[in-house]
Amino acid sequence: MDRDASLTCYNCGWKGSLEEFRYTCPRCGEPLTIVYEGGRLAESSRKELRGRGVWRYSAFLPFPEDVEPITLDEGWTPLHVSKLAGGLRLKNEGLNPTASFKDRGMTVAITDAHRRGASKVICASTGNTAASVAAYAARAGMRSYVLVPSGAVAKGKLAQAVAHGAKIVKVKGGFDEALREVLELLSSDRSFYLLNSVNPYRIEGQKTLAFEVWEQLDRSVPDVIVLPVGNAGNISAIWKGFKELRDAGLTDSTPRMIGVQAEGAAPLARAFEEGLSELRPVESPQTYATAIKIGSPVSWRRALMAARESHGAIISVGDDSILEAQRDLARVDGVFVEPASAASLAGYRRALAEGLIDNGEKVVAVLTGHGLKDPDAVMRFGVDEMEVEPGKLRRELSAYQ
Ligand SMILES: *Cc1c(COP(=O)(O)O)cnc(C)c1O
Ligand SMILES: [Zn+2]
Repeated sequence: MDRDASLTCYNCGWKGSLEEFRYTCPRCGEPLTIVYEGGRLAESSRKELRGRGVWRYSAFLPFPEDVEPITLDEGWTPLHVSKLAGGLRLKNEGLNPTASFKDRGMTVAITDAHRRGASKVICASTGNTAASVAAYAARAGMRSYVLVPSGAVAKGKLAQAVAHGAKIVKVKGGFDEALREVLELLSSDRSFYLLNSVNPYRIEGQKTLAFEVWEQLDRSVPDVIVLPVGNAGNISAIWKGFKELRDAGLTDSTPRMIGVQAEGAAPLARAFEEGLSELRPVESPQTYATAIKIGSPVSWRRALMAARESHGAIISVGDDSILEAQRDLARVDGVFVEPASAASLAGYRRALAEGLIDNGEKVVAVLTGHGLKDPDAVMRFGVDEMEVEPGKLRRELSAYQ
């Protein structure tokens, strides 16, 4: 283990070591965070960056230098200039190995699972975590168990879990119920290694998006990061990444973090707007953006902290504006994303209209997952197609405008 890294609870201040690993705080139950002691971050900043992707930033990860990563070359995704608005860049996380940002955290967490000798891994998932867990477990030679909401997983994601040989458990209910089942199982059965974002190693991997954006912008930080929020691990992770960049002395500014939820699944947007310090879960969340169809986000406390500390916000957008954003990204920018990812652009538009973002500010919208994940969703765009008899193409086409 890494001597300069330890576990801490950002809620109550509990501290523990990485040797006696646990996911949640023994005192208050919050997900734990990995912190780096003393001059560790400054020291990391002096190390040369080598390679590409998540492991390029291994000096900022909680492993000894001789760690052997279990990797599929995740990260190093493009930062496209958008044609939709001046100053808007698109971080295309759909181009990761299993086509979502989940791979950034998974390579780091599965590397840890392997070091601890785990043979079985488990997660609850709306689909993308399941796909990523299944692929990385296959790579590591481990068995994977994925709990998904019965009948509510997008086709592409389920296909990936099947392809990589995961044991698929369908839970009657939504994501929140599936996660509750997994956490309850783990409280009495320690033989599984947990790969949900309560695992602090997932957060360590996902924070590397911040480092990459900083490098892609010639070692500068954007004014705003806008991203979809479901279980709220990613907003917490990316904010941690930017704070570490600052604490390492590599930048003096940090971006405002703007999290976006779907209106039918927006407990955090409501808590932020109303200035609440407790979360009121949404009982049966509704949205066609299934990756963020979550009513009781595990990382709600640290997500609110990220929004408040960074002078950002958590807002919500309707499914109609998500659909419109998804179509615009595909048809104007040529970037095909799943519905949840389009919430970034829908949220950007709303934030601009409400003055949370100024025209011309440098904004990075995180596009979290690929459009092929959810092929059924795009049928809502309206399909422009015709059928022709062989030999009649020319005549039929001239009538088809
Ligand atoms: C997991 C996921 C999200 C939500 O991320 P959280 O860390 O749960 O907030 C958003 N979009 C896509 C495509 C995802 O797979
Ligand atoms: Zn605590």
